Amino acid sequence: MSTSTIEEKQYLTRFKADTKSHLTIVNHEVCQNNCPEKFCTIFCPAEVYKWEGTRMQVGYEGCHECGSCRIGCPQQNIKWEYPKGGHGIVFRLA
Ligand code: SF4
Ligand code: SF4
Repeated sequence: MSTSTIEEKQYLTRFKADTKSHLTIVNHEVCQNNCPEKFCTIFCPAEVYKWEGTRMQVGYEGCHECGSCRIGCPQQNIKWEYPKGGHGIVFRLA
């Protein structure tokens, strides 16, 4: 049985990015003042969230649509929607 790493599996994905983010930080001050751990930078498997010192940057183009940030943010500070039809991640089977 062959095994592959998560990096190899991620290499099989393709993205068709929308021009508008489907992920929204509701209140950036909440991230700055109420979430010292910045959990989203840890639990997101695609490393979409990057803390830039005073603001959370959201690289929505690389989102894997796993839905973890809907439940993982302890402040419920991420608004999550599916990308518009035809956009987002494309999984390919190897
Ligand atoms: S886990 Fe939620 S509150 Fe914490 S930094 Fe990320 S988006 Fe902000
Ligand atoms: S849905 Fe998953 S991959 Fe996309 S931003 Fe949220 S945690 Fe990251």
